[in-house]
Amino acid sequence: MGHQRTIQKPVSCQGIGLHSGVPVRMTLKPALANTGIVFQRRDLPESPIVGARPENIQAVHHAITLEKKGVTVRTVEHLLSALAGLGVDNLLVELEGGEVPAMDGSARPFVELLLQAGVRRLFQPKTYLKVKRRILVQEGKRSVQVVPSEGLKVFYTMSFDHPLLGEQSVAFNISREIYAREIAPSRTFGFLKDVPYLREMGLALGGSMENAILVGEEGVLNGGLRYPDELVRHKVLDLLGDLCLLGKPLVGTVIAHGAGHSLHAQLVKEIQRQLDLEEAQEASLPTVIEKWVKPLLPISEPLETLAF
Ligand SMILES: [Zn+2]
Repeated sequence: MGHQRTIQKPVSCQGIGLHSGVPVRMTLKPALANTGIVFQRRDLPESPIVGARPENIQAVHHAITLEKKGVTVRTVEHLLSALAGLGVDNLLVELEGGEVPAMDGSARPFVELLLQAGVRRLFQPKTYLKVKRRILVQEGKRSVQVVPSEGLKVFYTMSFDHPLLGEQSVAFNISREIYAREIAPSRTFGFLKDVPYLREMGLALGGSMENAILVGEEGVLNGGLRYPDELVRHKVLDLLGDLCLLGKPLVGTVIAHGAGHSLHAQLVKEIQRQLDLEEAQEASLPTVIEKWVKPLLPISEPLETLAF
């Protein structure tokens, strides 16, 4: 886990954008160490690039939109989640449109695509962001905070305003295996009553029973769930994708109550703000986050042996 990673060879997929409803082709390509995750709009003149960075977060309602110099990339979070989950640090994401394809509404197709490409260790060590003191963001009763710990752990609680769903909680010690098996397959979801409003806002235009769990008054409308608590697991999937915008893996325990993209993005920006502050200060001052280069370790189990 000590080295930066990219993929072995280019891989492609196509699908429709969840919010735009427009078909799009996406190609993932290997990238050099310290590149980070970068999106390239191949459908636009001069193929502009938008990095997955906190300063490029433009919109956070129902999905994350990145923007740089007027160029946007929509709904990046499920792909970013798969990259974070498998520890891929450097990647070029070519898009023939403005939105990442929705696939089945989960991150599983992206995990499968990455495994098909093969994950490649680079020589350079991975740098982590290690939390040293609590950082909290909240809006009323909704909150998300990160506290110091070894490794990355997530506790997530959601109270759904629906008699059949009620309160759901999960806790995960995040590893590549746990991510691929317990988190990546959970699908995005929507409530039937919200669909007219979303469509009026120009959102969920590509949403269907094939790429989202649809919840009506009587319960889930499109067959069975992949896990009894699939909805809150998807919130963890989203959180990991949003945290990927930090550009470096986070080491800490994240505790979220009723949160969503908006609060996740606020946490990302607050962590980045603390980091910028610390970098501008003397090294002797107390720190909240530290950049932590993990020593090079022997090669761990190859990713290709992961079972689902
Ligand atoms: Zn999502």
